[in-house]
Amino acid sequence: MQTFQVGVLGATGAVGQKFVRLLEDHPWFKISVLGASERSAGKKYEEAAHWIEPTEMPADTAKMEVAECEPEAFSGVDFVFSGLDSSVAEGIEKSFAEAGIPVISNAKNYRMHDQVPLLVPEVNPDHADLITKQTFTDDGSGWIVTNPNCVSVPLSMSLKPLHDAFEIDEVIVTSMQSTSGAGYPGVPSLDIVANVVPYIGGEEPKVQTESTKVLGSLWDDTIAFNDFTIQATAVRVPTIEGHLLSVSVQLKNAPSSIDEAKQAYTDWDNPIASLDLPSSPENPIKLYEKNRHPQPRLHADREGGMQTAVGRLREGTVMDLGYVTMAHNTIRGAAGGAILNGELLAAKGLIH
Ligand code: NAP
Repeated sequence: MQTFQVGVLGATGAVGQKFVRLLEDHPWFKISVLGASERSAGKKYEEAAHWIEPTEMPADTAKMEVAECEPEAFSGVDFVFSGLDSSVAEGIEKSFAEAGIPVISNAKNYRMHDQVPLLVPEVNPDHADLITKQTFTDDGSGWIVTNPNCVSVPLSMSLKPLHDAFEIDEVIVTSMQSTSGAGYPGVPSLDIVANVVPYIGGEEPKVQTESTKVLGSLWDDTIAFNDFTIQATAVRVPTIEGHLLSVSVQLKNAPSSIDEAKQAYTDWDNPIASLDLPSSPENPIKLYEKNRHPQPRLHADREGGMQTAVGRLREGTVMDLGYVTMAHNTIRGAAGGAILNGELLAAKGLIH
């Protein structure tokens, strides 16, 4: 694989820093431009970013000057990853796509756009081809790809084997979301220390729609959403990384036993395994058998934070099945997921 020069938009934020760390030794992608707001532009990255990663800031990156998020400053890159705040992502990402610079984004703004893939490589790799239908540029050189929000990633991944085997009808999910999901400085300490906040603004509508697009079908120039319904409750809990979801599922063709449901997970084949993508985990969807698993503290970092853990799979009393699932929200649910999207697009020859 050739080496691609990449830019990071929103490089100083919580997700942006995760991009910087995960790309430090990436075999295909090399950071050549970092962008943030005018508050940070012109400063060295080490001065502009309040570094919250548990490893040292990469030495080369620390000395790079932060640019404003304008396409002219990124002219040498092959594409950009975006960790921009959603209040500014819409206009900035569009300006990059229109300038012929592809955008692989974490922000919510384009997730529901008819021609923008909402990509989880292990679930809907075929949706990547939709970028050829986008019209940001006449020659197709500029496009946008998004990943789902940090709850919809483990939700769609954990539903996929069940959907393939039994077809999903209805889903009820309660997401117990870690503090890092709110960025930095995030939730005030007096709200979250030894407490649970039963509301996260704007979160539930995203959780209720995104998985139906991820598990939808590619139709010529758009995605037909799947017709199952999701009811979501999103709460903030005092963990740091790893969103834990309690899920109940009604199926169209219920399994005859809980073993048959477990088999749906153990029999599931990862459709991108043969591509050997650098960030692809060996077990993207892993079923844990112990009742106390998975837990954010024990399992969020498994397989480099790229695994979706499933546990407590059991027969339901109101709906067919119940289970819990968890994924690292700023890696699998954000920067790591976006990097895997970039790897899939590169492996498919869609990045030039
Ligand atoms: P954050 O820590 O608040 O970082 C926001 C970034 O956007 C910073 O780099 C900031 O630069 C930049 N920015 C703000 N205003 C700007 C402007 N006018 N022009 C250019 N850049 C500007 O937020 P985050 O938690 O990293 O989240 C980033 C995005 O990822 C959001 O859209 C979020 O919804 C999404 N996301 C987050 C998670 C998660 O778990 N945290 C998961 C999935 C998706 P300055 O430092 O210069 O202000």
